[in-house]
Amino acid sequence: MYMPDFAYHAPESLNEACSLLAELGEKATVLAGGTDVLHKMKVGKLAPEHLVSLKHLDDLRTIRHEPGRGIIMGALTSHNAIYTSKLLQERYLSLPMAAHTMASNQICNMGTVGGNIVNGVPSADLPPILIALNASIRLVSTKGERTMPLEDFFHGSAETVIAPGELLADITIPDQPTTGSTYMKFGLRRSGALAVVGVAVAVTMDGDTIRDARIVLASASPTVMRAREAEDCLKGKKVCDELLEQAGSLASAASRPRDSIRGSAEYRRNLVGVLTKRALRKAIDEGHV
Ligand SMILES: Cc1cc2nc3c(=O)[nH]c(=O)nc-3n(C[C@H](O)[C@H](O)[C@H](O)COP(=O)(O)OP(=O)(O)OC[C@H]3O[C@@H](n4cnc5c(N)ncnc54)[C@H](O)[C@@H]3O)c2cc1C
Repeated sequence: MYMPDFAYHAPESLNEACSLLAELGEKATVLAGGTDVLHKMKVGKLAPEHLVSLKHLDDLRTIRHEPGRGIIMGALTSHNAIYTSKLLQERYLSLPMAAHTMASNQICNMGTVGGNIVNGVPSADLPPILIALNASIRLVSTKGERTMPLEDFFHGSAETVIAPGELLADITIPDQPTTGSTYMKFGLRRSGALAVVGVAVAVTMDGDTIRDARIVLASASPTVMRAREAEDCLKGKKVCDELLEQAGSLASAASRPRDSIRGSAEYRRNLVGVLTKRALRKAIDEGHV
């Protein structure tokens, strides 16, 4: 299919990008890696008059650690940059490993963490593990900037709280006492498939007692979701198989998946239970974040 006509802009700075977006309003679409935007334009689902490319905003491509704040990752960080980041491998291995479950090499070279978040789809692989790691995001526009926990960003399937003219600038993963985390995904191919269900967990252990737990589900409801009842049942308890089984059952009961070509709602609910238990066991036993 042919691309519709559009005007192309490539601002040189974040300020310039924000001004352009404010000026062009709803006629403009932000272009990061383009793996979703360009596909939607080709199949006729999107026809913006203006594309505002972020490709020159190299400051949004860095991953750094700031003492007292944590890891700050620019929104333009690609999936492959996450996967190969030594800093992330040392501090939050679960994040590079989640990026490694995604798409083909071509998509992972182009696709960005910002696009993966702003898309707002429940099957996206990076939001669950970022939410499990308590990440927050910074949104900027000509009106200023605001930060919020990533879990508050999602409203419904493909709906987020981003306002017209706002750009996602970066994601912060705070320093934390977490002792183990992981992301487990079930797809219809061995690698590179969209999640039929994904489960991210982060636990803080004190010996064999679970002090804290965060469980986040992908493709299990209209939006990425915390399984709070399951989290609560774990806190302050000693680890045993029955407890992890109970957490899996509670996560499964809380999920609200849909029937789709990739799996029925019932199948997905079962997967949530199985993957939650397995992910908790892995995060607890392997003990790396
Ligand atoms: C073949 C294929 C396989 C895929 N496999 C997977 C997979 O396994 N797992 C998965 O999670 N996803 C997958 N995806 C989806 C997609 O690749 C990812 O969601 C990717 O991270 C999107 O990033 P992008 O930079 O390409 O976004 P773009 O296409 O550039 O943008 C996506 C959306 O986000 C907006 N946007 C992007 N960046 C910003 C920003 N900084 N501020 C404000 N708005 C912004 C855009 O305007 C657009 O609405 C796949 C896609 C394809 C085509």
